[in-house]
Amino acid sequence: MSVVSKIQTVLDNAERLNPILNSFLSIERESALMRANELDSVESTAPLHGVAVAVKDNICTQGTRTSCGSRILGNYAAHYDATAISRLRSAGALIVGKTNMDEFAMGSSNETSAFGTVKNPWDTGRVPGGSSGGSAAAVASGVVDVSLGSETGGSVRQPASLCGVYGLKPTYGRISRYGLVAFASSLDNIGVFGRTPTDIANVLGVISGRDPLDSTSADVPVPDYSAALDTSVKGMRIGVPRALFGEGLDPEVRASVGSAIEEYAAMGAEIVDVELPHAKYGIAVYYIIATAEASSNLARFDGVRYGFRAEDARELRQMYFRTREEGFGAEVKRRIMLGTYVLSSGYYDAYYSKAQKVRALVKRDYVNAFTQCDVIATPTSPSVAFRLGERSDDPLAMYLSDIYTVSANLAGIPAISIPCGLSTERLPIGLQFIGNAWSEPVLLNLAQKFEAAHPDKEKPPVHVDLT
Ligand code: GLN
Repeated sequence: MSVVSKIQTVLDNAERLNPILNSFLSIERESALMRANELDSVESTAPLHGVAVAVKDNICTQGTRTSCGSRILGNYAAHYDATAISRLRSAGALIVGKTNMDEFAMGSSNETSAFGTVKNPWDTGRVPGGSSGGSAAAVASGVVDVSLGSETGGSVRQPASLCGVYGLKPTYGRISRYGLVAFASSLDNIGVFGRTPTDIANVLGVISGRDPLDSTSADVPVPDYSAALDTSVKGMRIGVPRALFGEGLDPEVRASVGSAIEEYAAMGAEIVDVELPHAKYGIAVYYIIATAEASSNLARFDGVRYGFRAEDARELRQMYFRTREEGFGAEVKRRIMLGTYVLSSGYYDAYYSKAQKVRALVKRDYVNAFTQCDVIATPTSPSVAFRLGERSDDPLAMYLSDIYTVSANLAGIPAISIPCGLSTERLPIGLQFIGNAWSEPVLLNLAQKFEAAHPDKEKPPVHVDLT
């Protein structure tokens, strides 16, 4: 099949489903077809030749809108490609659209987007998770096989879990952050969604690796991730932090994750008990560090340099105030205020500096745990997809959705969410594996083992294969 006809189908499907799911903020028909035509005219062995990729709208794509789900960047077109994007393009992939997201990646439900909520393909009355909900829904609904998201505290894994697809957050520094609009720089990563672990492995291999444009990208060789996918799990030690399987965890999620872990045991893995004594501070630490960094990163949106500018201001300060007042939504303002507070001179030691110390303890927990096991298994999210609006008036309840995911970001280590079952209401449940730095091959291999054991997975009701 020609790349043009394949991409045509992807674009048609995206356009057909978007009124239902709202997963795309822009669908790049013209540029994608133009590129498809070029690809058809060359003989190519490029690793991602003709692969359609949907990209979260906080990753810069030259010439197309990169809004971060915010009014303040509503009319901003990026003038360069993020490194991950230029690497995708050189490998023959096509960007078919930019996906909806929580504003500036702040949220766990996609409800903070300035451009309307994304709906979960499994139940359009429910959230897809966030903040990369558009990218998760685009894969879950079958429009694309792979998409890029971003992670600061779980924004790939949590929506992957709620939408029933695979989602990988790599080691900090694995993928260049050049061109990823910063939320909290010490926690941010680009992550990958896929219908299968193989899809993720192929994309990860292309976009990973040192980039001179991002000094925090690591100079660590990029392995052949696909080659790692048929390793036996015999003798692998899976650590289970039982203390985290208690209060607040939906019993159906507990049961499903528990039986998935049993399956690995049946494949020959050894299950060991581990402890992560500081995990319970993860949310508090995360919401101090993330808001602190966000308050400083978002200072650049002042009406002068990018995007939206309020009209009719009489003088400069008023222009700043009005631009930010009108341009940012409520959650972003809340985070900027929290961040400014924890960094203020009177409270710096009590909050920010304390949080940095506890972050070191959270990291140390993992170092200790990985002396006893190879990977750690937990649920990805304490619950299945919740109803639209259910938590939007209760920020704390929303923040608690991230309880299992934030600590991998605090520690800078990789983690993956694996769709491991459905609840009685037919909503997806996710199993999370957290690994040591650079253990992406191990995580992808574990995911592949589950995929191979469950070849006929149920599809969501909103899916392009269904009429
Ligand atoms: N839900 C978390 C937050 O709101 C994580 C977001 C993310 O990973 N970008 O901050």
